[in-house]
Amino acid sequence: LWDKIDAEFKKTFEPVSYETWISQVKPIKLTADKLTLQLPSPFHRNYWERNLVKEATALLRDYSGHEIELELVVPNEQIDDTDIAKTFTDPDLTSGLVYAHDTHLNDKYTFDNFVIGAGNYLAQAAALSAAEEPGQVYNPLNLYGGVGLGKTHLMQAIGHEVLRRNPDAKVKYVTSEEFANDFINSIQTRRQEEFRREYRSVDLLLVDDIQFFADKEATQQEFFHTFNKLYENKKQIVLTSDRIPSDIPKLEDRLVSRFKWGLSADITPPDLETRIAILRNKAIAEGLEIDNQTLSYIAGQIDTNIRELEGALVRVQAYATINKIDITLESAIAALKGLKDIANQHGLSISKIQEVVAQYFRLQVSEITGRKRTKNIVVPRQIAMYLSRELTDNSLPKIGKEFGGKDHTTVIHAHEKIAKDQEHDSEMRSKISDLKKLLRG
Ligand code: ADP
Ligand code: MG
Repeated sequence: LWDKIDAEFKKTFEPVSYETWISQVKPIKLTADKLTLQLPSPFHRNYWERNLVKEATALLRDYSGHEIELELVVPNEQIDDTDIAKTFTDPDLTSGLVYAHDTHLNDKYTFDNFVIGAGNYLAQAAALSAAEEPGQVYNPLNLYGGVGLGKTHLMQAIGHEVLRRNPDAKVKYVTSEEFANDFINSIQTRRQEEFRREYRSVDLLLVDDIQFFADKEATQQEFFHTFNKLYENKKQIVLTSDRIPSDIPKLEDRLVSRFKWGLSADITPPDLETRIAILRNKAIAEGLEIDNQTLSYIAGQIDTNIRELEGALVRVQAYATINKIDITLESAIAALKGLKDIANQHGLSISKIQEVVAQYFRLQVSEITGRKRTKNIVVPRQIAMYLSRELTDNSLPKIGKEFGGKDHTTVIHAHEKIAKDQEHDSEMRSKISDLKKLLRG
């Protein structure tokens, strides 16, 4: 049973996340209604409780056909460290599942815990306005951006803030898939009235990841009516997606046009300063002492995804704990060395990247490595250089060489250009993310 879940996670997670959070998990006991998993450290358990338990439980249910509870244990010998002892006495970290049952909000996702930086300040400001005057300023509010950049966090922060200001407010957070499931269940059980009453009576509706509405026609239709009802009654609606709604394939035009009534704010990847600030906050929250040099080293290793950034910190932390050493620049380097190794294990070579990029843009590899300067070739070439720099360990001169003997400054330029383009160009972002997926197979 665990193998199936493991395989499922392997499919859906970035390799680094999978390696950090899941590959080291061992199933140790399975009874009719309980699966016990052994995790390598309390940090892993903490992460599981916050991020994976819900999904794993759902998978268990799917595969077994009935409810199976998940128990997470950590071997004793790793928890006598004082740092860990602190972690364990922190009620926040030990409270188990942090989802409040009625609203489905995660306690950690508040405005207080959200670090503001260049990539997210507009979205943060818009979110705060929506929370202060729900239904009055930006309705709907659409937050969009790449994976792990804080969309869910910001969206749930609105929920917390609305409740803080008005504890009687009816706040509902769902993913678009949960909305779809609820809707389908309501039809099967003939409880559509109840479903409608539930969704149409809220003061604040938060629907996460609406790109997964694609292809679900009946659900979209239902959501259209929910939307209209709430909008009519000046109730705040907040949506997130990984791209602008008009770029979501198979999203009905009438929904797209509704979404345009409000404000769309995008979140772009954080700059180095913001990443350091986020790490510093996390370190403080977990009672860790890490010097600035080490924090900037970690922040320099991962630049596109805050969830991965947090994963890197935990990796550093777990490495120090398991080896019973302090967190220093040295130990951080050693801990994160594994990350690149993992990328290399996937056997990504520059020529593989060239091949995949060429195919994606319907070009020949020789055009990618050639010297022709027409735009339809230059941009794919720059993308291939960018990916070679991001996903392999090869030096700049080596990359230049493999692209038909170009200078390393050409590679630097290409890398900067594509990195910059992604900041404001959602099409470029989705191309890069498509390609990364293809490359990771
Ligand atoms: P998304 O929904 O965009 O995929 P999440 O909201 O789940 O991303 O964020 C991923 C992780 O990064 C979460 O643990 C979140 O708390 C954290 N995070 C994202 N942005 C910030 C930020 N600006 N400050 C602090 N933590 C952040
Ligand atoms: Mg999210």
